[in-house]
Amino acid sequence: MTPRLTPEQLEERRAHGARATERAKAIVKPGDVLQFTRCGGVRSRATFIGWEGQWMCSTSLSDIHALHVFKLNGDWVSFADEGNPDPAVGDVRLDAKVMAFHPFFPDETDTTLLADRMVFARAPHRCAICLGDVLRGERHRARTERINEGAGRVMTFRFCRLCCEAMAASWTDEGKAITERTAIGIAASRAEVST
Ligand SMILES: [Zn+2]
Repeated sequence: MTPRLTPEQLEERRAHGARATERAKAIVKPGDVLQFTRCGGVRSRATFIGWEGQWMCSTSLSDIHALHVFKLNGDWVSFADEGNPDPAVGDVRLDAKVMAFHPFFPDETDTTLLADRMVFARAPHRCAICLGDVLRGERHRARTERINEGAGRVMTFRFCRLCCEAMAASWTDEGKAITERTAIGIAASRAEVST
């Protein structure tokens, strides 16, 4: 259930939407490919053809809001205020920093990357770095690879919220946070081996 907003909060939400629309109007051109969320967080893709007031239109849709757009021509984008992301989308500025971090470098296993994206956990998982929990509903990175060595198999690696934040921080903290998260995982796996 959505909590009831005060008139001030509603006004701020409307103003935030208008700011996002202005930013998008300055950038998005007909023919651009948009990826965005629709009701219920469903993700969709469409080619932008023009504006109808505050709405972005494609040939079949006329109600795409700039706040819900998360990719423009394949690149991560956000028209939201800094630090004020759409909860159904997450913070795409942070996502771009997380995705740019290669979690297994310099692993030389022969693999093919099949998918790498931020998702909401439908079931509990285990983090591939710290070996801690990825909770049901937690927004996290999921990276699916085909291991081409041996018999070959497909594996999905999950990274918890804290490890994602550490990946994003790696671009400014010289890897300090992600090194700490990795150390937690190494200690956890040693503890499992010795028991
Ligand atoms: Zn983790």
